[in-house]
Amino acid sequence: MADRADGGPGGGAAGAAGGWVPVQPQERAMWCDERFNFQATFLQCLAKHVPNIYSAEMDPLLEKQEEMVQAAILYPLECYLFGEDPDIFLEKLQQSRTSQLCGKVFKGGETTYSCRDCAVDPTCVLCMDCFQNSIHKKHRYKMHSSTGGGFCDCGDTEAWKAGPLCTKHEPGASGSAKENSECQLNEEVMEHSRRVFPSVIKYIVDMLIWEEEKELPPELTIREKADSYYCVLFNDEHHSYDHVIFSLQRALGCELGEAQLHTTAIDKEGRRAVKAGHYASCQEAKEEIKRHSENVSQRPLHVEVLHADVMAHQKFALRLGSWLNKLMSYSSDFRQIFCQICLKEEAGSEKPCFISKLMLWDAKLHKGARKVLHELIFSSFFMEMEYKKLFAVEFVKYYKALQKEYISDDHDRVLSVTALSVQMFTVPTLARHLIEEQNVITTITETLLEVLPEYLDKNDKFNFQGYSQDKLNRVYAVIYDLRYVLVSKPTLWTDRLRERFLEGFVSFLRILTCMQGMEEIKRQIGQHIEVDPDWEAAIAIQMQLKNILLMFQEWCACDEELLLKAYSECHKAVMRCSTNGRSREKTVFHLCGHTLESRPYRVSADPVSIHLPLSRTLAGLHVRLSKTGTISRLHEFVSPEEFQVELLVEYPLRCLVLVAQVAAEMWRRNGLSLISQVFYYQDVKCREEMYDKDIIMLQIGASLMDPNQFLLLVLQRYELADAFKKLKPTKDQDLIKQCNVLIEEMLQILIYVVGERYVPGVSNVTKEDVIMREIIHLLCIEPMAHSAITKSLPENENNETGLENVIDKVATFKKPGVSGHGVYELKDECLKEFNMFFYHYTKTQHSKAEHTQKKRRKQENRDEALPPPPPPDFSPAFSNVVRILNCDVMMHILRIILQRAVELETHLWTEAMIQMVLHLLSLGLLEEKQQLQKSPEEEVTFDFYHKATRMGSSALNAVNVLMLLEKLKRVPQLEAQKDTVNWILQMFDTVKRLREKSSLTTIAATSGSEATKGDESTQDKEKAERKRKAEAARLHRQKIMAQMSALQRNFIETHKLLYENTLEAQGKEDAIMEEESMSSAIDYSKIALGPKRGPSVAEKEVLTCILCQEEQEVKLESAAMVLSACVQKSTALTQNRSRILELSGDTLDPLFMHPDLPCGTHTGSCGHVMHAACWQKYFEAMQLNFRQRLHVEQIFDLENGEYLCPLCKSLCNTVIPIVPLQAQKINSEDAEAVAQILSLARWLEIIIVRISGYSVKNAKGEKQNLPAFANKGMGNSALEFHSILSFGVQSSAKYSSSIKEMLILFATTIYRVGLKVAPNEADYRIPMMTWSTCAFTIQCIENLLETEGKPLFGSLQNRQHSGLKALVQFAAAQRTTSPQVLIQKHLIRLLGVLLPNFKVEDTPSLLEVDMFHVLVGVVLSFPSLYWEDAVDLQPSSISSAYNHLYLFHLTTLAHITQIVVSSATESPTARSSDNSEEARSAQSFCREVCQYTSGCFSQDIPGWLVWDCVKKGIMPYLRCAALFFHYLLGISPPDELLQVSEEGQFKALCSYLCLPTNLFLLFQEYWDTVNPLLQRWCADPVVLSCLKGKSIAIRYPRKRNSLIELPEDYSCLLNQASQFRCPRSSDDEQKHPVLCLFCGAMLCSQNTCCQELVNGEELGACTSHALQCGAGVCMFLKIRECKVVLIEGKTRGCLYPAPYLDEYGETDPGLKRGNPLHLCRERYRKLHLLWQQHCIIEEIARSQETNQIFFGFNWQLL
Ligand SMILES: [Zn+2]
Ligand SMILES: [Zn+2]
Ligand SMILES: [Zn+2]
Ligand SMILES: [Zn+2]
Ligand SMILES: [Zn+2]
Ligand SMILES: [Zn+2]
Ligand SMILES: [Zn+2]
Repeated sequence: MADRADGGPGGGAAGAAGGWVPVQPQERAMWCDERFNFQATFLQCLAKHVPNIYSAEMDPLLEKQEEMVQAAILYPLECYLFGEDPDIFLEKLQQSRTSQLCGKVFKGGETTYSCRDCAVDPTCVLCMDCFQNSIHKKHRYKMHSSTGGGFCDCGDTEAWKAGPLCTKHEPGASGSAKENSECQLNEEVMEHSRRVFPSVIKYIVDMLIWEEEKELPPELTIREKADSYYCVLFNDEHHSYDHVIFSLQRALGCELGEAQLHTTAIDKEGRRAVKAGHYASCQEAKEEIKRHSENVSQRPLHVEVLHADVMAHQKFALRLGSWLNKLMSYSSDFRQIFCQICLKEEAGSEKPCFISKLMLWDAKLHKGARKVLHELIFSSFFMEMEYKKLFAVEFVKYYKALQKEYISDDHDRVLSVTALSVQMFTVPTLARHLIEEQNVITTITETLLEVLPEYLDKNDKFNFQGYSQDKLNRVYAVIYDLRYVLVSKPTLWTDRLRERFLEGFVSFLRILTCMQGMEEIKRQIGQHIEVDPDWEAAIAIQMQLKNILLMFQEWCACDEELLLKAYSECHKAVMRCSTNGRSREKTVFHLCGHTLESRPYRVSADPVSIHLPLSRTLAGLHVRLSKTGTISRLHEFVSPEEFQVELLVEYPLRCLVLVAQVAAEMWRRNGLSLISQVFYYQDVKCREEMYDKDIIMLQIGASLMDPNQFLLLVLQRYELADAFKKLKPTKDQDLIKQCNVLIEEMLQILIYVVGERYVPGVSNVTKEDVIMREIIHLLCIEPMAHSAITKSLPENENNETGLENVIDKVATFKKPGVSGHGVYELKDECLKEFNMFFYHYTKTQHSKAEHTQKKRRKQENRDEALPPPPPPDFSPAFSNVVRILNCDVMMHILRIILQRAVELETHLWTEAMIQMVLHLLSLGLLEEKQQLQKSPEEEVTFDFYHKATRMGSSALNAVNVLMLLEKLKRVPQLEAQKDTVNWILQMFDTVKRLREKSSLTTIAATSGSEATKGDESTQDKEKAERKRKAEAARLHRQKIMAQMSALQRNFIETHKLLYENTLEAQGKEDAIMEEESMSSAIDYSKIALGPKRGPSVAEKEVLTCILCQEEQEVKLESAAMVLSACVQKSTALTQNRSRILELSGDTLDPLFMHPDLPCGTHTGSCGHVMHAACWQKYFEAMQLNFRQRLHVEQIFDLENGEYLCPLCKSLCNTVIPIVPLQAQKINSEDAEAVAQILSLARWLEIIIVRISGYSVKNAKGEKQNLPAFANKGMGNSALEFHSILSFGVQSSAKYSSSIKEMLILFATTIYRVGLKVAPNEADYRIPMMTWSTCAFTIQCIENLLETEGKPLFGSLQNRQHSGLKALVQFAAAQRTTSPQVLIQKHLIRLLGVLLPNFKVEDTPSLLEVDMFHVLVGVVLSFPSLYWEDAVDLQPSSISSAYNHLYLFHLTTLAHITQIVVSSATESPTARSSDNSEEARSAQSFCREVCQYTSGCFSQDIPGWLVWDCVKKGIMPYLRCAALFFHYLLGISPPDELLQVSEEGQFKALCSYLCLPTNLFLLFQEYWDTVNPLLQRWCADPVVLSCLKGKSIAIRYPRKRNSLIELPEDYSCLLNQASQFRCPRSSDDEQKHPVLCLFCGAMLCSQNTCCQELVNGEELGACTSHALQCGAGVCMFLKIRECKVVLIEGKTRGCLYPAPYLDEYGETDPGLKRGNPLHLCRERYRKLHLLWQQHCIIEEIARSQETNQIFFGFNWQLL
């Protein structure tokens, strides 16, 4: 491919002027000389420069090459051509450039749009830009991904019924009113073009088709030939990427990287030099490559050795090609001159013109060259209608040759010039022209006939056994061309068109002749066939031909004369094919006085074929004859003697019998291939031109033959002649069963022949009627989604089903919920159209529909009879069909079957058979009734009633049908059919009365009323009877329900736990009720901290283990019980996604959480409880299990402790031990007393002393990391080391060893997962991680409750509630399993943030920590200060109350300061005169801050604004704190927190947390103590730099994360994707843009260009992005496929439906249907919750479990 095809003409000219290759003045002058020989000069110039420019082929400097090309060749050439500076000239042209055609050529994967309302055919498409600017945006459009190679049809008036131009291409749109005068090129330029183009084109053509490897044409050879060659490797589709790499490595001994580089280039450009050198060495390399590649796959790679100069000129030829391509876009004149030259044939020469030469050479060109060539054709010929036509003529002229080249070519179709056919053949006028002038239909069919012979057998029938799929696919391309030519019917017929079309049709019949009866099969008896024969190819051809056959029929039907001629031709062809079997002697078959003479043939013994396209085409033409009325002239074209209807019926009948025999399992031994063929025969993809037409052919037979003869023929072909003759008592059960199935099948076909009239021409119905009926019958089965209905309807040549036009008439749409899809429900008034024996039902559909309809009638308390709806009248040509209903043979058949039922010969009849007989009887009676209602009685010859009530003459016929029916009612097995029988009996009555009424018209006047009365009375009786039955049924149902519910109760009793647990998902409301009842029952003071602290509500907790089902009370000293849990890293709360996350936490210090909350550790639980011992056993058993089945891939990673919850199958990776809450209650008197002495100042002094005491104690062994406090002047001599103990201590809780073990286990998991490190029970960071996950999980839950708008307490799901409870209690208890010295050390570091005395060098400033994490850390670690050498003490309740209070107040003060400082840059948005107390306090606080920051903090911020910021900003912190203390202490929260109310919530939080509602009062209260702290907090350099605006601190409240905004209209996303360019590579290959829903990044997925090496592993763009963006868990939208992908880590992921729905409430994964899609907010919200609830991993595990196929997918490379 030419380098930088985009560097078009003039592009580099400016650079060339000062470029390093000077353009010789005399050279320029020479070019400009009018008299010189341009061609010679041009070639001379090329000969001189080209080999130099392209000399370094192995390692080209592309930019330098381009620069040289511009300077030495293109610039002078353009100067000559334009006669002035190219830049200026082209700029002028650019201004006036107009074309009404868009002509954008699509790349693979680009989205194209088609309008279903306006496009002439589905190949008419628009590019994204044109579509967005067109009227079709508001129409019913479809979106699709281009396979590449097509082009935008904007501006083509023939492609669109309306709106052919978008606003961009509309004339006069872009100020081009002046077009006429200026867009024309001046004469001089035209003259020059006529002189330049031929030489340029000739050079390009010559070089592209140049075959000499070593020599150049003499005019290009100017210097001595150097021995400099390249070994060039060409692309093919046979060798895989890896094969080529392998071969290259072996043959050239090169590195993998180099081989990869070569291979990628070859794949992209089609060829590449892989070695440079002397001829001999290149030749050697060539042989080596061939040898090695042959070893790998059968075929050697295509390698050539080319001389360096040849290679250079070929490269430059392509560069010139793209130069021309660009030039073409500037002016229509250029295009026309170019096309003229390309089409010019040498006078008197047979040689093809330039463009044909290139076309013919196309298959020999390499990929890159083809691309340039095709683009050139698009930009020139296809932009000028007149030349497009001329090009099409050339194309058709060489059509055969081109197609043959393509078929033996090995490149994809998009790379073949033959793929251009669609651009020409689908243009209606062009198609007409090509038919008339070039006989294109015949050309195509002849091409087919010429390429298909290799599949012909000795009888000249096709046989595709052992076919090559690829080759056949190429043949389909030719068939497709036929479809394109026929896609729009002509409106105007000329004689020539008629003649040519007929010629084409006859030629097409020759193909059908080869198919008629092809691939015959014979029933296998005894042995099963060894290999299933190939059947796919033949069926695939049928599918391809379906619409073509229909189109041919439609074309024929346009014109009466044509239709008759075509019919006669087709008839002849059928007759020619129907000769076999004529050799056999005719035999005679008698039944009830009728005789049939026929040639013996048995489907079960003789060969039979399912492929009968000729017969079926004839049937199609026949109904069109009938529809147009032309049938009356048929005899002029086909004489009645020639017609031979029996012969016409014969083959379709055989085919139907074959289907029946397959159903009767007579063809079992012929294997699956036959079953598949029979399936497709009746499937919606084929049935129109197979099954349906066979039924029509039988109807033709029934209408033209004697009815008895017809039935005898049917009986004989079904091999049932004996079955209805005499009772042959056979004992063989199998044979009887077989025979019964055959009878059923035959009856069914007879029902269809008589009853199926919904074909235009068979009766007077329209296409809409037909579709409506199809839809009604589909919806009678069940309500269906739009896509399901569409899939079950046949598509026409425009891929339309016509569904939308009628669906609203028959159905109502029901919208979908958050999952599932919308469905259509049948309208009630359409139910009467239901026909149980609808011919397109499969067996399952039939029984499902029957069941549904009966059930419905039962529910409506109606009888269960489902008689056929009255069918429309046959059209005259088919009216004789009904005669088979009342003919003797039919009566005989009906009677025999009924008799067998009545006589209880159980094995000889089936209920289905009876149903069909009843159906046929109903049809007969309906027919007679309808006829009687229309015409006078004496004219109605249809005497079904008479025949059915007539006695037979023989003994066998001693009873009539009516009598048999009466008896049938008493057959117990037929209870279910009783209602139908009654209905028929009533019909008999009605018909009888109609007959009598009309014959006795006079009496009718009087007896008529009586008759109706009688009718009424019977109806009343029926009604009463039905009511009684309904009542009985109701009682019966009640009884059963009672029994059921008793059973259910028992079940719930015995499985109580199981039941409760499974109900948990919906237990949200229960939870609220629980909480509410609890809170209303207790009325203590609801304060969590300080001396007024309320009591803990710790109830006795008795839990049941889900594994052993035993109950146990949770106690400190008992064996541990655990909750299944999942620990994961999470970025759900991050405020800064650009922060780089550490992939491994080996060196991480997790004590402090950054206020950005970049990545936390979340602990979730499904809330299911087990004994620790039971769980351990379960886990070990699972491990063992998997070790034994080594090769079974598992969803979960046992090594990392993963398992599925035994009850709900959630993915878990650890367990949380359940530690009981220690109930505490404090004596308020004592507490008040303590309050007198223990002020904050005092408390601080005490702990400082305590801490410094420890540090002195430990100073010997430990590194001194505490500053000396004694000197700070804060110490009080009265206080000593033990003072802290004096306010109350108690002994530490004693945990059972099993609880301890679990504490360690869980803590280690948090550490391992949270930091991604190897487990280490003794690591010092374990307590930090414990506090951190506790704090982070609370923050996540708080966040979730807020975004969901739920109250803080009482609205958690049970699983969240019990998980959080266990987590907080665990976090409090975990301390006891770590060395207290360690805990103290952590505590001191944490306190360092609050108390600057403890500050050490790594203590972060106030703005660098998340205060809630600090709070949780200090509260949980504080008891460690009570540790005394050997005695394990902990603070008493009173001590704790004060500790909590002061710790909380301190962090709160710090947090308020954080908020105030970080909102310093806030500018007031509104004036407020609020001068509240809070505002005033805020103002005075600010003054202090201002003072301490030496004025960095502006004092001007109004107090009310500060107060506003603080109040809003502190809310999440207070909410988290309330949750934390509640779950830590078990103190009930105030009622206000059980509701959602902003103001009430703030007050309630303050009261619960013992804060003044004017938060600034806290500062005032503690001013003396806090003042020095505040001073030091503010003086921190980080704080100052932030205040100076040098750095940005996080604002409070933090933003709540949500998934990115998605556009409402999906095409906006596609638009974005189309503009997406891979950041790493510049090629135009197809990309898979993927959108990260967390951060909105667009990534290039599934492509090697964007893989990244992480820890030595290649990761795809998504996987590596997920590591950063979501800490391994992420959510993406694959834009081109419209699917959401969830991934976790490197190995797991799943697909999830995208939140976009079409107007029918359905998703469209893969954009297969292409309907417009719109965002569904509820579904997107569901995805959001999935993320925020940390359920993505769970979702992946669940989907992997149900959908095992995803194991094969390499998620890593996504
Ligand atoms: Zn366009
Ligand atoms: Zn356009
Ligand atoms: Zn439209
Ligand atoms: Zn247990
Ligand atoms: Zn569970
Ligand atoms: Zn992202
Ligand atoms: Zn990429």
